[in-house]
Amino acid sequence: MKCIICERTRIENSGYCIYHNKARRYLKENYKKWNEAYSTNLTWDQYLDKLSKLENVGIWIREVIDIELKKVK
Ligand SMILES: [Zn+2]
Repeated sequence: MKCIICERTRIENSGYCIYHNKARRYLKENYKKWNEAYSTNLTWDQYLDKLSKLENVGIWIREVIDIELKKVK
């Protein structure tokens, strides 16, 4: 099976390959930190939306954000 985003093989129990899975894990971890650091209570979507507007977001992260945001809609 292929990664939802790219042509690489997806890892077990995930829709993503090793790189995109890593990016997604990073996003998840940072989501909690973000809300704590800014004392906000953003939803997952709001957080992803905010991140997607930052310039210094890596390509792997950006691709995962796009997919995650599409998935909910
Ligand atoms: Zn991938």
